[in-house]
Amino acid sequence: MSMKYIYLLGACGSIGTQTLQVIDQYPEEYKIIGMSVGSNLKLAKELIERYKPEIVCFRKEEHIFSISYQPKIVFGDAGLLTVAGYHQYENEWFVNALVGVSGLLPTVEAIKAYKTIALANKETLVVAGDLINALVQEYKVTLLPIDSEHSAILQCLRGEADKEVEKLWITASGGSFRNKTREELVHVTVEDALKHPNWSMGSKITIDSATMMNKGFEIIEAHYLFNVPYESIEALYHPESIVHSCVQFKDGSIKAQLGVSDMRIPISYALSYPSHRTLDLDRLNVKPCTLHFDTLSIERYPCLGYALEAAKKGGLYLAVLNASNEAAVHLFLTKKISFLQIEQIIWNELQNKEYERSYIPSLEERISVGNCIYAKIIKEYGEII
Ligand code: NDP
Ligand code: MG
Repeated sequence: MSMKYIYLLGACGSIGTQTLQVIDQYPEEYKIIGMSVGSNLKLAKELIERYKPEIVCFRKEEHIFSISYQPKIVFGDAGLLTVAGYHQYENEWFVNALVGVSGLLPTVEAIKAYKTIALANKETLVVAGDLINALVQEYKVTLLPIDSEHSAILQCLRGEADKEVEKLWITASGGSFRNKTREELVHVTVEDALKHPNWSMGSKITIDSATMMNKGFEIIEAHYLFNVPYESIEALYHPESIVHSCVQFKDGSIKAQLGVSDMRIPISYALSYPSHRTLDLDRLNVKPCTLHFDTLSIERYPCLGYALEAAKKGGLYLAVLNASNEAAVHLFLTKKISFLQIEQIIWNELQNKEYERSYIPSLEERISVGNCIYAKIIKEYGEII
């Protein structure tokens, strides 16, 4: 097994730390070469001193602290690009565990540096799935998903012909408010929203799961990752989070992937694709399992409908969807708006006909329109950025 040289962005986050736990189980297979760290400086110090990457990106210049050896040090958005484009070894892998659209340009840079891409940052494919696919083809790199649903589909598709796929079923736990009615959502708090019933994740994706925007994002990602039309992808309510997604074939046969709710499984599968190798974590006890499935209602979860609407409109609308969602989730997390205002803000923005284009918008246009929308929404609700 030849050594894989890893560049990990977002090392201090939920996916970042779990990626390091997987890597720790196979020290002879992986070496961390580059790393970006977040604002948790205690954890940042611990990780840098432990893995001793050759290049480190700090989130802000003022975060930089003294290190016991002399890595190359960079910071900010430009620093993320330097890490993504850094090139020293043959078999280089880029793990993107950043949250938000800040993960998009680093992914582009890593593709251009011929790295294998292991992508958790879902905003990359939501905003620019078409352009990323074109780059992946142009640079002949491999892109592997880090998400339980897409990992499940990838596993179900192994050995199957693409043209035999009839439908993808993407399962959804229902998020923190799955047992609440729309009326009960009026007064829910940030603290309530951050209690996900089945998964422990970063705060933004936990809110995206409660609004079900996350499932909308996952349908968009699945469309780009597996080249399946939107009409053939459906979200399926499955409160147990045991079946991580299913593929239905043209003869009616359905393949599903099951397991415990532990992101280290999809992380490990991406990093060892196409092998399943030994992982030291809990096994699913299948004997007592009872599985339930139901329709995921767009009336109950309007954000799922908005994501599908933006996907259908295409062009800039996916950038609009993502930016308005990022702004609204930030405002909710900082207690500037209520939970139900998240969906109102997104809906308002999607109604704007100004974003219609008769051409395929460039990466630059998508990012700049997204940044303007983000700043406008934050300003509207009184926060200085
Ligand atoms: P977290 O918030 O836990 O971690 C994100 C990390 O990235 C933090 O350390 C954060 O630093 C850092 N970061 C964020 N923005 C920037 C930036 N602009 N520059 C530098 N560093 C930055 O997120 P998750 O790990 O939960 O999620 C990461 C991605 O993976 C998301 O796109 C999410 O949707 C996706 N995902 C997550 C899953 C999960 O189980 N957590 C499952 C499937 C997908 P700081 O601490 O300073 O904010
Ligand atoms: Mg998921």
